[in-house]
Amino acid sequence: MPLEIVPLPDLDRLLEIPFVARSQEILAHLIGDEFERSTIDGMVARAFSFPLPMRKIRPGLFGLELFHGPTLAFKDFGARFMAQCLGAIVGSGDTGRHTILTATSGDTGAAVAHAFLDVPGIEVVILYPAGGISPLQEKLFCTLGRNVRTMRVDGRFDDCQDLVKRSFLDSRMVNELGLTSANSINVSRLLAQVCYYFEAIAAWTKMSDRGQGAPLVCVPSGNFGNLTAGIIAWRLGLPVSRFIAATNANDVVPQFLAGSEYQPRPSTATLANAMDVGAPNNWDRIVALFGNDVARLRRELGAGSFNDAQIREEMRLLWKEDGYLADPHTAVATGILRRFLAPHEEGIFLSTAHPAKFREIVEETLDIDVELPPALAAVTGKPLLSEDLPNDFGELRRRLLT
Ligand SMILES: *Cc1c(COP(=O)(O)O)cnc(C)c1O
Repeated sequence: MPLEIVPLPDLDRLLEIPFVARSQEILAHLIGDEFERSTIDGMVARAFSFPLPMRKIRPGLFGLELFHGPTLAFKDFGARFMAQCLGAIVGSGDTGRHTILTATSGDTGAAVAHAFLDVPGIEVVILYPAGGISPLQEKLFCTLGRNVRTMRVDGRFDDCQDLVKRSFLDSRMVNELGLTSANSINVSRLLAQVCYYFEAIAAWTKMSDRGQGAPLVCVPSGNFGNLTAGIIAWRLGLPVSRFIAATNANDVVPQFLAGSEYQPRPSTATLANAMDVGAPNNWDRIVALFGNDVARLRRELGAGSFNDAQIREEMRLLWKEDGYLADPHTAVATGILRRFLAPHEEGIFLSTAHPAKFREIVEETLDIDVELPPALAAVTGKPLLSEDLPNDFGELRRRLLT
């Protein structure tokens, strides 16, 4: 993490230049002299090579679509930039072994697998909860093979995350395997995600009806990496009136912000499975970004949660009234955002996944047929290559060390 987050100079100019050029400046500012500026510029250009359109859903309501990358979810931004960072390090003479060990609630797995597929010197191991991710999410990363090993864990996402954390505390595993994490605890992912918040404000400024004041920004949250990146953007000076954390029924954070104790608990399965997290990894970082001042955090950060029935209702409303096809995660964000928007305010939500990734839920909820984009159509017929893993650290350790 940057030891100190220094506000960006010359913000007005920065908001006017194109996304890639702006992101190069933001990341150079955050990364400092860890990499040469020309290296950073190349890394950003290669990682951020797909569009991120802003949609106006209705007056005052805007959505930034972050799902037009290779694996159809916003995680492509972080995973692809992380691959560039690791490539820059490994490329500069490092010959050690590198194993990326990561847990996924559905979308990280695909983004990381695709970002590192066939990268020489890198092995990828992905743990995911059996029955906890959508069938198409599973097809996207469990059919690849090669340097990507996938394990279907008899447990929930938090169990997978615990297995990963325990592996990082095991010095033999760390040293022999050269372990690296690709979850949003990895700072290279977080820093990459800072960039699209600037794009959200830049695009909003051009499209807004009122064009004045700053908008609310609502982030559908699970492990809270995405929101952490948003708060970092805020600390860099980005004009946002307020951030809103939107969760599914796993509402540990909204409960805490409403005044309860902070009580992580086992996650429950919901329609927005990539947010089924009961003990969010990045929460400590968010608290720290608010100066460990809980009263301030409760004042400044908005939050709300949606249960499955509310998610379906919101998906129907967006489809019927606005003709907008939202995946279940995005619907959590739009619904919670609308709760917070006063009549004179404007708001932006992050649209985090392509609706086709959750085809079964979307078709059943809206009673429509969803066409698969080429990336998904290509994998539907492929066999799954995952191995089953009991929720047992000793067993994981044995399999990885042999
Ligand atoms: C991972 C994910 C989220 C949650 O992001 P966090 O950074 O874990 O809070 C939301 N929506 C989708 C589609 C995701 O894949």
